Amino acid sequence: MGAGAGPGSERDPFEQLLNPDFAQSAEYREPSAEERAAAVAAQKAAARKEREADLRRRLAEQAVHDDEVAKRERRARRRNPTRIWKVLGILTAVVAALAFAWMQTRGSVVAVGDSRTSVRPADYPPVDDSVSDSPLGTPPPAPLDPGPYEFVQMQQDGSGPIAWDPCRPIRYVVNPSGAPAGAEQLLEQAVANTAAATGFQFVDSGTTDEPWTKQRDAYQPDRYDDRWAPVLISWETQNTVPDIAGYIAGLGGGTPRSDSSGRAAYVSGAVVLDAEDLDAMLLEPDGTTAARAVIQHELGHLVGLDHVADASQLMYTEGTPAQTGDWGTGDLAGLNVLGSQPCMPEL
Ligand SMILES: [Zn+2]
Repeated sequence: MGAGAGPGSERDPFEQLLNPDFAQSAEYREPSAEERAAAVAAQKAAARKEREADLRRRLAEQAVHDDEVAKRERRARRRNPTRIWKVLGILTAVVAALAFAWMQTRGSVVAVGDSRTSVRPADYPPVDDSVSDSPLGTPPPAPLDPGPYEFVQMQQDGSGPIAWDPCRPIRYVVNPSGAPAGAEQLLEQAVANTAAATGFQFVDSGTTDEPWTKQRDAYQPDRYDDRWAPVLISWETQNTVPDIAGYIAGLGGGTPRSDSSGRAAYVSGAVVLDAEDLDAMLLEPDGTTAARAVIQHELGHLVGLDHVADASQLMYTEGTPAQTGDWGTGDLAGLNVLGSQPCMPEL
């Protein structure tokens, strides 16, 4: 051991080899809590940035997509009206052609003075030579201060309602299957009341087994010979005729046909009565009046009257027969007009 050698000289032999800068740089130092928090915050910020960028990218793509969708829709909208107008154009042409063909057919019937031997539409029976030259009856004068009335259909030229030809009887047949007991008398009364108010002559042509159908032919030569099919009055249930389900106690209406001038009249028709509803009605006090009123209401439709909003008229909406069960002043005024239309010999 030499003099002067102190503890300081006894240096770690590796000390010199240690580059303090290196040592500093190589040092792993546990980060402080603040540093950790800052690092986490930075990481979060970066992740948020990335998510935002991703979101913007997707939004941009969505915008492009939306724009394309919008463009397609705009194009479709531009195209569709064209299609609609084209379809309408074609339809109009077809309707015009049919109308022209129909006018031609009708035109040949016009053959003045000889219409009875001219060409008639195939679904028309031969002209009925037994038809009278003048009305078979006249309606009583209309009440002076009538209530409201409405017609089911008006003539095309607006000259008046479509009605029955007053110069020939309104024939009717009854399919009695399912009729409530006593219904026959009620029907007779309702028919008589309708005839009295219109001047129309109703003729009972007996019974039939013809079932009611929605698209009933007005001319059925196999069943009813060479004349318009009589009005069919039948009793149904809401199982056979869903249209009378609920509070609807019946349906009634005439079937119009036009002559060569385009003027129309009812040539046939049908009245459907809900056997179950009327059966139940007949069990109530005053049920007879109510049931007869329902039948009469349907006959009102048959001859051309529509509903009115006035509860004192028999043609008030279904299910609420007027208290008297008979025609109101508006009904009578409407029936007067219906019974006063010109004769239709060509039909
Ligand atoms: Zn009705």
